Amino acid sequence: MRVLITGGAGFIGTALANRLVELGHQVRVLDDLSAGDPSRLHQDVLFNRGDVRDRPKLWTILHNIDCVFHLAARVSVPESILYPREYNDVNVGGTVSVMEAMRDVGVKRVVLASSGTVYGEQPAQPVKESFRPNPRAPYAVSKIAAEYYVFTLGQLYGIETVALRIFNAYGPYQPLPPSHAPVIPLFMRQVLTGGSVVIFGDGRQTRDFVYIDDVVDALVAAALAPDVDRQIINVGSGQEVSVRELVRHIERVTRRKANVIENAGQDGGVSRLVADITLAHQKLGFTPKVDIEAGLRLLLELDPRFRQLR
Ligand code: NAD
Repeated sequence: MRVLITGGAGFIGTALANRLVELGHQVRVLDDLSAGDPSRLHQDVLFNRGDVRDRPKLWTILHNIDCVFHLAARVSVPESILYPREYNDVNVGGTVSVMEAMRDVGVKRVVLASSGTVYGEQPAQPVKESFRPNPRAPYAVSKIAAEYYVFTLGQLYGIETVALRIFNAYGPYQPLPPSHAPVIPLFMRQVLTGGSVVIFGDGRQTRDFVYIDDVVDALVAAALAPDVDRQIINVGSGQEVSVRELVRHIERVTRRKANVIENAGQDGGVSRLVADITLAHQKLGFTPKVDIEAGLRLLLELDPRFRQLR
């Protein structure tokens, strides 16, 4: 395949680009580097710096492409509450631009990176794709809108479309921004450096943490699978882990004691969230290979930021 990955210099995009090159595919990346870093991309990846809303640029870069992985997005839930317009512009407007440009150039398939956060609080767990989304923040709204645009425009323009609702991805090189950092790299660093691990809410809230290699397996399968047009597919580990349990896993893997501070007054987010991955298994042959403790071990071994603190 000849593929374009938008947002391909980011955490998931880089892992995907490098895997596709290893598998023998030709890979182009478009990323504005607002969050990404192209330095870890395999040398055979053709990197282009640019904005996903720049259609003339898309026309050039989409030439001869078989499949687009649309990953470019603003990705912070708390930030989206402060800047909803920005999230709408990039995540929704960017998706519409990509679909329009794909129509203009004649590209036939797109895989959209959507998110498990669209489910919000649900009466039952694990969550199935048929559940009604219950978004709590502009980020989740932007992902639902992107799904609708991709499916609707795809049908109108004759483009095959599939949306993967990715749950909490983690793994080596995940960015650790100074504010709103993802919980796994943040807690790992705090435990390794003897800093405080701050738990919001009661710590019993659960999440589905899915290792990056498993996410990449699902993305690659979605580009090749025969029977996925207009499907929404959950991509998680299927394993429900509370924030307190996560801390214990990190303690075991690092063989250090966490210095836990409880901040019960701060909202800890939805009470439970775990993916039903039956459909991913059926449609993509997806079976997660890395459970939480194995994933944390890999993170500790493979991420230089943590390896040197062991
Ligand atoms: P990331 O921030 O590392 O990657 C996003 C990339 O998009 C960055 O490299 C950024 O520079 C680029 N980008 C942002 N705005 C752009 C624009 N206007 N034009 C071009 N490039 C732009 O985040 P990630 O974790 O790798 O997420 C990738 C995708 O997967 C996103 O769509 C995200 O919503 C989705 N997702 C991620 C997770 C997760 O747990 N990491 C979970 C669910 C869904």
